[in-house]
Amino acid sequence: MEGKMKVVMKQEAKAGAVLSEMDIPKIGPKDVLVKVMATSICGTDAHIYSWDAWSQNRIKPPYVMGHEFAGEVVEIGADVKSIQVGDIVSAETHIVCNTCELCTTGKAHICKDTAILGVDTNGTYAEYVAIPETNAWKNPKGIDPAYLAVQEPLGNAVHTIMSGDIIGKTVAVVGCGPIGIMAVAVAKAVSASKVIAIEVNEYRLELAKQLGADVVINPMKEDPIARILEETEGLGVDVVAEMSGNAIAIKQALKYIKLGGRMAMLGIPTAEVPLDIANDIVFKGITIHGIAGRKMYETWYQVKGLIESGNLNLDAIITHRLPMEEFEKGFDLMASGDCGKVVLYPTKELFDTYNK
Ligand SMILES: [Zn+2]
Ligand SMILES: [Zn+2]
Repeated sequence: MEGKMKVVMKQEAKAGAVLSEMDIPKIGPKDVLVKVMATSICGTDAHIYSWDAWSQNRIKPPYVMGHEFAGEVVEIGADVKSIQVGDIVSAETHIVCNTCELCTTGKAHICKDTAILGVDTNGTYAEYVAIPETNAWKNPKGIDPAYLAVQEPLGNAVHTIMSGDIIGKTVAVVGCGPIGIMAVAVAKAVSASKVIAIEVNEYRLELAKQLGADVVINPMKEDPIARILEETEGLGVDVVAEMSGNAIAIKQALKYIKLGGRMAMLGIPTAEVPLDIANDIVFKGITIHGIAGRKMYETWYQVKGLIESGNLNLDAIITHRLPMEEFEKGFDLMASGDCGKVVLYPTKELFDTYNK
């Protein structure tokens, strides 16, 4: 397709981003071109926007930010078979080699040759994005594109919660940013017995409550270890979903996890975290599971099934909808913590249509 499009560019190696214009991307024979209907701000985008240490090592400006989205396919490459023009798609954002041992044994989510959409390639804060056919996830039609856009981070929450037994278990969700609050909702939807949310930001604790948390704990106001032992007959929780990456929170979690418990870790600490491995891991007989992305594509089918079940209330997850021009407002919200998911619409027409 010929022509120009509006994008949010990470223009330079410094904090911020700019609204800009560029050519609509050309697609290869195995790619599809998608007209973006809604795109949401990820914690990763916030790191890139603020230009933290991780971004400085990983990101090569100038490039188009964003990876969580839904849109309509407007053009397909000559070799594309599974996707048609008019399909509504989202993207699995890990673009993998599809040939290595991990890719061919059901572990493509940890392929060593992974490029990430909107991190290593031009992303979705744009009117159009080109993605490989193999990364396009076909959505049912007639669903609010904002809900479809958040399936990718929702997949992180699902992968974290579902990485082991969960039915009837007590669960602590540590850190209630957007993925944390989704983890609360997922744990409730799949019948965890008691979900305890731990978060320092009161706005997010309130969201966790709305999404079904049975107990909410602000560790700045009370001791999470004492409170959780109280809530679990002195045994601790069966499952910890670690979404914070906070060193103190991780150490505390290892104290209130039950003997033989499971800790699924998605949060990313900014530095090495010293742990009492002997007492808190070995002698407690716990399992620690690192969660990288979403299983391809097992997690996506779980997400689809959960959405279709009607047991997940996505309404409360999306707290703000903005035209893409107001991306700065979105990033300010993310920095304040006073938000769940923030959704951007590339055009005024899309914003007017879906901002209800
Ligand atoms: Zn994301
Ligand atoms: Zn691979």
